[in-house]
Amino acid sequence: MSRHNSSTTAASAVIATLQSKLGPEQVLTSPEAIARYPGFVWFPPRPRMPLPYPLGTPAAIVRPRATDDVAMVLHQATAAGVPVVPYGAGTGVMGGALPIRNGIILDVGAMNRIRSIEPGNRLARVESGVILGELAQAAERQGLLFAHDPWSQPIATVGGAVSTNGVGYLAAGYGAMEDQVRGLEVVLPTGEVVSWAGAAKRSAGPDLWPMFVGAEGTLGVITSIVVQLFPWPEARALTGVRFPKFADGFRAIDRLVGVGLQPAMIDYEEEEGEPLAAPSRLFLVFDGPAEVVSAATSLALRIACDYQGTDLGVAAAAHFWEHRHDSALRFLNRDASLLPRRRPRYGSRYLDVAVPIERVLDYCAAVVQLAQEHGVAAHSFGIWGRPELVSVILEGSDVAPVKNGGLSPLDQATDAALRLARAQGGSIEYCHGVGIRFAHLLPEELGHGYALFRHLKATLDPAGILNPGKLSTGD
Ligand SMILES: Cc1cc2nc3c(=O)[nH]c(=O)nc-3n(C[C@H](O)[C@H](O)[C@H](O)COP(=O)(O)OP(=O)(O)OC[C@H]3O[C@@H](n4cnc5c(N)ncnc54)[C@H](O)[C@@H]3O)c2cc1C
Repeated sequence: MSRHNSSTTAASAVIATLQSKLGPEQVLTSPEAIARYPGFVWFPPRPRMPLPYPLGTPAAIVRPRATDDVAMVLHQATAAGVPVVPYGAGTGVMGGALPIRNGIILDVGAMNRIRSIEPGNRLARVESGVILGELAQAAERQGLLFAHDPWSQPIATVGGAVSTNGVGYLAAGYGAMEDQVRGLEVVLPTGEVVSWAGAAKRSAGPDLWPMFVGAEGTLGVITSIVVQLFPWPEARALTGVRFPKFADGFRAIDRLVGVGLQPAMIDYEEEEGEPLAAPSRLFLVFDGPAEVVSAATSLALRIACDYQGTDLGVAAAAHFWEHRHDSALRFLNRDASLLPRRRPRYGSRYLDVAVPIERVLDYCAAVVQLAQEHGVAAHSFGIWGRPELVSVILEGSDVAPVKNGGLSPLDQATDAALRLARAQGGSIEYCHGVGIRFAHLLPEELGHGYALFRHLKATLDPAGILNPGKLSTGD
């Protein structure tokens, strides 16, 4: 029997079992149902390394309602060797949720109960399919802040945000997703359930649950999460400042963080124009007791003035804040204007890298240079949350020549810019995970840690069925 035929047979047998145990409404096999799970946003990433299973049309969508359902599905899939792709809302941009041919998409979207919000403990206990925005609203009704607020807050799940270790607008003050997780319940690929209840601090053996944060569904399926909430701020001040060029505002950000100011939001981006020479806009949010917020905002504005910043006024800052989730709403409505500017054979790569503060400006200049050398454009440099977190868009020819390893100029420039970030002591990605898109660079990113990651993967997932190939987990 060919490998294709044997994988079809294995999948059919498992799906028949799942249908008998869960019922047909939780195990969907129609082409219409499958079409609702593309697993990518905008354009599917091209794998850059061999995959253990081909990407393609899955055999079924399975929608568990409870942790026991997840455990049963994974147990069956491991026994039969059928690949399983965990799926939140499918808003990930790296291809982590791309379906595998004849595999199972495990959509946790029906596990969407907010089990409790505990105002006295400032904690929420939620199932992984809860939409981030729904948790934020539920917390606000109890006078609390759920502080993971990415662009995609109205559309992405808590489990997806934990699995990609995402970053949101308020990361400057409240941290990234990893800083707001207190405990997890995880189903291992073999079906065992492990959980951590959310102790504030432990010194009783190593904490193991953080290894599932950012694992992009390759080590276990997260079924519930204990989330840290914060007091709803007594005051919130929004400020906007325009700088003559990127370096001026970057130095102002570095200075204001350096004197100990802690904005809740730092959002800085170049306007259109010549890269690193165009004016750039900084939006800041300060949260806290009214006197503290007022003093912090005044000091931040004074520092911005020292670096030639001009106040954009409260209305511009308020407008920015009110419209911060518009891209997600346009995505929900499938608005074509959201698509990256694209011409035939032309593409865009969004790079979100970490670089040590002192190297940021040199790094940005080097990216402009290397982009030019590859004949592509670098634009829209930005800083998000911390001075070390740098964004840039590369745009150019995405046509792969036969020679030169078959890489398009855009892919060559992207790899060079990501490798440079790591070589400078940083990271190739701080926000979206690596999925399939940057998986070929993960062994370099992790160094000797990559072998450790592979050992962990082999131990937890002996049959290699959980999201195989993502995060460079193929053979
Ligand atoms: C318009 C738009 C704006 C965005 N803005 C931001 C932003 O500001 N910040 C940011 O960080 N990201 C952003 N993203 C990317 C995306 O929204 C995030 O990566 C999000 O956290 C993914 O959540 P999801 O529920 O859609 O996960 P999915 O896309 O379904 O899955 C992402 C990965 O996590 C795995 N996974 C999902 N759920 C589980 C689970 N329960 N257990 C184990 N593994 C799981 C999947 O297998 C996959 O590898 C944006 C995306 C869009 C479309």
